[in-house]
Amino acid sequence: MNNFDYSRASDLADAIRLLTADPGAKLIAGGTNLIDLMKENVERPSRLIDISHLPLRDIDETTGGGLRIGALVPNSDLAYHPLIEQRYPLLASAILAGASAQLRNMASVGGNLMQRTRCSYFYDTTTPCNKRSPGTGCSAIDGLNRNHAILGTSKSCIATNPSDMSVALAALGALVLIAGPSGQRTIALADFHRLPDDKPHLDTNLGSGEIITAIELPPQGFARNFSYLKIRDRLSYAFALVSVAAALELEGNAISAARLALGGVAHKPWRSLEAEAALQGKAATPDHFGHAADLLLQGATAQSHNGFKIELARRAIVRTLMQAASATPQSQAHKKIA
Ligand SMILES: Cc1cc2nc3c(=O)[nH]c(=O)nc-3n(C[C@H](O)[C@H](O)[C@H](O)COP(=O)(O)OP(=O)(O)OC[C@H]3O[C@@H](n4cnc5c(N)ncnc54)[C@H](O)[C@@H]3O)c2cc1C
Ligand code: SF4
Repeated sequence: MNNFDYSRASDLADAIRLLTADPGAKLIAGGTNLIDLMKENVERPSRLIDISHLPLRDIDETTGGGLRIGALVPNSDLAYHPLIEQRYPLLASAILAGASAQLRNMASVGGNLMQRTRCSYFYDTTTPCNKRSPGTGCSAIDGLNRNHAILGTSKSCIATNPSDMSVALAALGALVLIAGPSGQRTIALADFHRLPDDKPHLDTNLGSGEIITAIELPPQGFARNFSYLKIRDRLSYAFALVSVAAALELEGNAISAARLALGGVAHKPWRSLEAEAALQGKAATPDHFGHAADLLLQGATAQSHNGFKIELARRAIVRTLMQAASATPQSQAHKKIA
């Protein structure tokens, strides 16, 4: 690990000021991703700006009937909050599919959105990686790429975004609230993470000096018909090969609204409005779910070792939608794929 300076931000304005003053500085919240990356010499911040004690830990109802979740709310507190369990169980389920209880106790909402890819070459400083060192090349394209992306890839990078929480937030239509040197702004979660294009070192559209302050959930929570299915090599403590967040509003067996997002397949949570629109007004049947899966996976391209992911994703989408339709969501407590 390299030497670095440390500052404890006294308030949000102080954190923005410190971050803007030093382009090499990094915020630290729970530290569960950043410290690992610093130990591996992947991240070498000149200064750590500790925001962990700032008052960004509240979960409040908004005037519009939604919820505002502070950026420093620990993942566990969010998953087990009564308003999340009752109104947004899809989000609770996605969070509980991630990491371990100990990590979820430390990990913050903002940090989860900002965590970096788990591409093994990104962690290995002896190999070329455009995300870690822009312009050096991508070791995964001709290397071991079983876990890598099948959608939205570029010639510069085929990494996936590892966050489970972000997949549910994308499906739920969440907003990211941001504060920075130019004031406050809001980005839809679906537009927060970037595709790699020729700048894979940029994971998100967060500008320099900007800080996530909160996430806002719209009123519609899909509390009855939802499921989060995470397919992984081990049923514990592993990142997704493919994950699916599905939410439906049903009138009888007819779908009046549908939400669908994938994790583990792209540089960002993958959502298709076309696939969701195709389900609207249709009966909740495997055929219609299969059609939506085809639309969601349009343009999917295999790398040398991950062709299996395309069929895996298709089957996972249909299964998750069936679980949502029958109100039998995937259990994260028993880790059983029913
Ligand atoms: C063994 C292991 C297994 C894991 N498994 C999973 C999993 O299955 N699914 C999953 O989703 N996650 C998983 N995680 C990742 C874990 O969820 C993240 O490490 C955690 O959410 C990061 O939150 P943090 O508060 O600790 O962030 P930190 O490590 O403190 O920060 C991470 C990054 O976010 C930035 N940051 C933090 N807060 C803000 C903010 N408010 N605004 C702007 N930038 C900010 C930091 O500068 C840093 O770059 C796993 C982690 C480990 C170590
Ligand atoms: S896929 Fe992206 S993160 Fe992985 S080696 Fe290539 S450039 Fe680096």
